[in-house]
Formats: sequence, C-alpha cells, structure tokens
Amino acid sequence: MKQSQLFTKTRKEAPADEVSKNAQLLIRAGYIYKEMPGVYSFLPLGLRIMENIKQIIREELNNVGSQEISMTALQTKEKWEATNRWSDEVVDNWFRTQLKNGTELGLAFTHEEPIAEIMKQYVSSYKDLPFFAYQFQTKFRNELRAKSGIMRGREFLMKDLYSFHTNEETHLEFYELMKEVYIKIFTRLGIGEQTFLTMSNGQPFSKYSFEFQTLSEAGEDTILYDEKKKVAINKQDYSEEIFTDFGFKKEDFDFKEARSIEVGDIYTLGTKYSEPLGLLYTNQDGKQVSVFMGSYGIGVSRLMGTIVEVLADDKGIVWPESIAPFQIHLVSLCSEEADVKKADELYETLKKQNKEVLYDDRQGVRAGEKFADSDLIGIPLRVIISPKTLANDSVEVKKRNETKVEIITIDKLLNN
Ligand code: ATP
Ligand code: MG
Repeated sequence: MKQSQLFTKTRKEAPADEVSKNAQLLIRAGYIYKEMPGVYSFLPLGLRIMENIKQIIREELNNVGSQEISMTALQTKEKWEATNRWSDEVVDNWFRTQLKNGTELGLAFTHEEPIAEIMKQYVSSYKDLPFFAYQFQTKFRNELRAKSGIMRGREFLMKDLYSFHTNEETHLEFYELMKEVYIKIFTRLGIGEQTFLTMSNGQPFSKYSFEFQTLSEAGEDTILYDEKKKVAINKQDYSEEIFTDFGFKKEDFDFKEARSIEVGDIYTLGTKYSEPLGLLYTNQDGKQVSVFMGSYGIGVSRLMGTIVEVLADDKGIVWPESIAPFQIHLVSLCSEEADVKKADELYETLKKQNKEVLYDDRQGVRAGEKFADSDLIGIPLRVIISPKTLANDSVEVKKRNETKVEIITIDKLLNN
C-alpha cells in the first residue's frame, strides 16, 4: 500500500486523557481511534494487526478440530436468569437496552448461556459429543475503570471457545491439550517467552482454573512466577494449599513477583451452565445426563495492546513478523523523476513477489520525519531507497528490532 494514499496520519501527541502506553502509541501511529475511554475504532493498519492475530488463533484452534461460529451480541434475559447471571448484584458490568415494546435485552459480556442454549438443538445422545466451537466476537462490559488503553475495553474483541464432553475425564484431556494450544498461540504471537501458565481460583467444578499471564509493568495483575519451570500463581489466589494440591513442594520453586497482563484463561465449567439450562444427552445406559462444559478465552484486542506494551521501545512500536501489518516498510527519499520511477518499480516488483509492503512514497516529507514515522509504526524491516543508494543499485536495510544497518543490492533484496 502507498503511504500517500493511507488516510491515517501519524501524530506527534496522543490525546491528553490517554494514559496508557499501548493506546498512546497506537493512536499516534494511526492504528486506532479513541471514541471514549475504553472504546476504540480500528483503522486500516490496526485492523490488519487484529486480523493477523485472529488468523493465528484460528489456525491453531481449527488444527485441534474446533468449529468457528458467530453468536449474537443482543441477548434476551431468560437464559441468564436461569443461571443467576442477569442481576446487577451478581454481574455488575452488564450493558442493557430494550426493545420498543419494553422487552429487556443485554449486550453479551460472555457467551456460556447462549451457546448452551444453541446446543440444546443439536445434542441429544452421547454420540453427538464431544465437540468444540469458538468465535471472535465483540464483548460489551461496563468496566468501572478503563485506564489500560485497548487492554481493558468497554467494547472489545474476544476469542471464546466452548467445549462439550460427556464427562470430566474426556474434558480434562481436551483441557490439557488447550494449554499446549494456547502456549503455541502466544509463542507464534511473539510473547511466548514472557507468558506464563498461571494457576488461579476456579469455579465449583474445579478448585483451580488457569490464566495465561504476560509479564509487563502495565499489567493489572501480579503473579509469582518460576522462570525455569514456566509456571506461575496469581498472587491474589496464592495459598500454601496450592502446593499440596498439585503434589509439587514450595521449596521446589523459585518464585519472583511481577506485574502481568491476563491474555487468556481456561475454565472447567462442568455442568454449571448445562444443568440449569437443560443441555442434556442420553448416555449409553439410556439415562439423561448434563453435558460437561469448558470455556477458553483469549483477549484478542488486549493481546494487540499487550504486544505493544511488551515489545515497544522508546522510538515506537515493534511488531513481530507474525502479525505485522506489512513485512516491509519501503521508504523512498527519491524526488527526481528518474529515481522516483525506480522506487516505484521496486515497489511493484516486491508486490508481484507477494511481499506485504507499505511504500512511503510521500513527497515533500523530510527524511528524518519519514524515519521517525517508520520507527513509530514498527514494521519489521525498513528498506530505504534514495539517490545515494541508487547510485550503486542498492538499498539500505534495517530490522526494526536491531540497530545494524546494511547496504545490499536491489538484486539481493529481490532474490531473498
Ligand atoms: P479481567 O480479570 O482482566 O477482567 P476476566 O477474567 O474477567 O478478565 P474473561 O471473562 O475470562 O476475563 O475473558 C477472557 C479474556 O478476555 C481475558 O483473559 C482477557 O484476556 C480478555 N478480557 C477480559 N476483559 C477484557 C476487557 N475489558 N478488555 C479487553 N480484554 C478483556
Ligand atoms: Mg480471567
């Protein structure tokens, strides 16, 4: 894409009321637009990031046989009353609205109830189980505080997967598999090293649940983590009992304390929702039994903010190649017609090679400004083409996360 045609522009300053680093950088670089605290629009570059994150998650979930769906955000209250999650006393972050005739509706903050209700139509026998379904969907939560930029949205994108098994034993096999799948996802997203499988308090059907916490000063959580064993405990749920329950002694661990961001979590739900909603199957003895459920969340937009927080430097954002909006930032310092033509040709050739290129073809913008924009936007590889490099049929290349600058021939760039 030609940068001269990109409608977003970089900004020197973020909005005065924006305190979080992720939103400040993302707004300044033109990835997102702030509608109000906790509510952000995703602009061309930002949407590319979100889609790339989604695609990695999608590939890993499909790989273990999950099926993608998309449920409604508008929810009728009856099923939430059945599980006692409609009232404000129990769930304090509902956004509510109503139909013209006064019927109360809620904007979903999660989807256990709706999906259990849907599956009543499709599950009747043990032969229908197990299966797993997920969606990428906008969630609405009337969060009290929204000071973490896109990491705590009042409207945000979540991946939520739900599993349906006949019993706890088969559920737990899948649950363990999902831990591995999540680790794979976070590794592909470039934050594997900083992300820890973290024990936290569970629900009635399991004493513990697991969170995936990424180390960052910007986090709202605190974890105790063992760097070598790659495990952690959420500090707020810490107890001596945890060690007894997991058979591993406290002395065996080397815990450090740090702030962290919850990027995902996995829950054993058991029959908590299937029982009150009547999601039943007939077992091999002809008996009616409640389906055994699990739920598995990932904060997709929160992840985008997390990656900015964790990898950015003092010049701007640093995207991992796996989710970058473009792989190459081709920055042209050419202004003479013949040179501009050569720069245009290089862009066209790279495009033909199916390389994802943002081409800074803007005229009348100083070199220093172009470099500053390039650092702020954070594309993994910067390629500078200028009259000076063209004199040797070359370009200057620099990786965003390295300081080394290299001059290579255009031929070499194209044959790489
Ligand atoms: P938190 O404790 O941070 O409020 P949660 O445990 O309530 O999160 P879940 O309901 O389990 O969150 O949602 C699944 C995932 O969605 C979380 O692990 C997190 O990554 C993400 N998430 C939750 N709330 C928000 C939010 N307000 N904005 C962005 N992402 C969120
Ligand atoms: Mg959680």
